[in-house]
Amino acid sequence: MGLVVSAGQVGAPFDVMSFPEMSMSAVSDALEAARIQYEQHTRACRQCRADSAPCAVAKHLWRLFNKARQNQLRSNGA
Ligand SMILES: [Zn+2]
Repeated sequence: MGLVVSAGQVGAPFDVMSFPEMSMSAVSDALEAARIQYEQHTRACRQCRADSAPCAVAKHLWRLFNKARQNQLRSNGA
């Protein structure tokens, strides 16, 4: 699953993967989870707030969100 990311790979200063409620049963759930993760990160990340620009982790989470959105568009449009 594309949402499962090792935090160590992107140098996350905290655990971005704690998401016990996440369900893989529907693509929209993955999309929502990706969006929430991104929002939670930008709120919690000191670097994102200080620079008012996304750090590497935020960019990574944003890419995951875009990927989930593309997956949903594909599944809806087909
Ligand atoms: Zn950040």
